[in-house]
Amino acid sequence: MKFESLVNPVVLTQPVYEPGKPIEYVARELGLDPAGIIKLASNENPFGPSPRALAAARQALTQGELYPDGGCFALRQKLAEIKGLGADQFIVGNGSNEIIELLGHALLRPGDEVVMAAPAFVVYKLVTLVFGATAIEVPLVNYRHDLRHLAAAITPRTRLVYVCSPNNPTGTANSEADLLSFARAVPDHVVVVFDEAYADYVEPAPDLRPLIREGRKVVCLRTFSKIYGLASLRVGYGYAGADIIALLNRVRQPFNVNAIGQAAALAALDDREFTEKCVRENSAGLQQLEAGFRALGREFVPSVANFIMVKVGDGARVFDALQRRGVIVRPMKSYGMPEWLRITVGSRAQNDRLLAELKTALG
Ligand SMILES: *Cc1c(COP(=O)(O)O)cnc(C)c1O
Repeated sequence: MKFESLVNPVVLTQPVYEPGKPIEYVARELGLDPAGIIKLASNENPFGPSPRALAAARQALTQGELYPDGGCFALRQKLAEIKGLGADQFIVGNGSNEIIELLGHALLRPGDEVVMAAPAFVVYKLVTLVFGATAIEVPLVNYRHDLRHLAAAITPRTRLVYVCSPNNPTGTANSEADLLSFARAVPDHVVVVFDEAYADYVEPAPDLRPLIREGRKVVCLRTFSKIYGLASLRVGYGYAGADIIALLNRVRQPFNVNAIGQAAALAALDDREFTEKCVRENSAGLQQLEAGFRALGREFVPSVANFIMVKVGDGARVFDALQRRGVIVRPMKSYGMPEWLRITVGSRAQNDRLLAELKTALG
């Protein structure tokens, strides 16, 4: 008997996530020196982790023989203090991606519908499909979530609505007032998930805590992978009403977040100087890239995140040409935008290099 006849049938039709290729991999494939390659493909922080987070991670490694605190007590306590919510209103995940999966475990059955924008973060759709639920994709308008169209796509079968602001891959955001009124108008059988992975780059970021205090069915997601520079350690969190958090805790693994990540995340929250620097550098980098794209006569989508989309014509060809020159970016074909690239904002020097190589690649 073949394995194919044994597996859950959704596995056979499940699309596969295509991550940005690691530097070492590209170096080996193309015969390049890894030291000369820059990766601007996955919205990672060009300034690395904060030095304080690094020191805490090193220290935690010395107790690597011990299981981590499965409840992430210290980290939830700290987040609760910072956000003025209760520690029981937080859940920490192996990246915020894990919390997207936990939402699937807790809420989705075959036949349910999940409303999301298109293009948006592809993990919403992947998790929806793996639980046998149906993804209802609502096109962006002007590269931005159209909250009215999202609301109109809700049916009695809808369980979840994902709103990603700033949106990946377009870098556009919705206003606080619009997000709040959207969530307040959603029917009672629907959970709204606000993915705030890039909210740390927006100043001031929309404050969605009133929705939680009002007892609405809302889950907000944050990550340590972007502005905190800890993508490798896999730490993200959700905040919501204590009732939803308790249900999500039932479906997670007992030790889902490793101790090194917990320690690094805790220390990272204390290094405001570092995150403030990252925000400043990112705004300067966005301006630098926008000026560069203008000089090249290329359309771009003004972004408030740490990445930006630029229209280059044959995206696959330009992606390939850039990669051969040691600059890894993200082609947008799988997002249905084959003429575009998504480029992570790098350091000033990396942005200069990207713009120079892009000029050459465009010919
Ligand atoms: C990067 C990103 C995340 C973060 O994922 P982690 O699992 O925390 O690394 C979440 N949502 C979006 C939209 C992202 O782009």
